Amino acid sequence: MPHRFRWSAEMGPQLEEWVVQGVARLGAEAVRERAAFWRGYRLLSMSRLVTEELTARHRAMFPSVQRLEAAETRATGLLWGVPATGETRARKGAARVDGVCPCGGSGWVAVWDEFGDPDLSFDLMCPVHGRTGCGARNGAGL
Ligand SMILES: [Zn+2]
Repeated sequence: MPHRFRWSAEMGPQLEEWVVQGVARLGAEAVRERAAFWRGYRLLSMSRLVTEELTARHRAMFPSVQRLEAAETRATGLLWGVPATGETRARKGAARVDGVCPCGGSGWVAVWDEFGDPDLSFDLMCPVHGRTGCGARNGAGL
């Protein structure tokens, strides 16, 4: 996909060709790994649990936010009508953390009140490693 990509409906076949080229260049396993890291980062981001280290790794892997958003949108459009294989269903939207997860693998993140008041502090279930997180749903554990 060129850097100055601009979507139009007529570009469907060209877009599919770029996707195939990208997967061939990176390898299917690397694409799956990046997708799992992207999903893990997104889940942590939605829970405001992203650390500076994770953001740095995410930016190194996906240096252009605009390009990542365009790829996400176009991938959704390309894949919505494609039946999932058994292997794909088994992954169930796998998420991984590229680095040290804020939960440290425990499935829980301590969120402390900024003034240290224990009554205003709580534990938050990690969206990636918690018992309802992607890892748990995948049976992958921590
Ligand atoms: Zn975690």
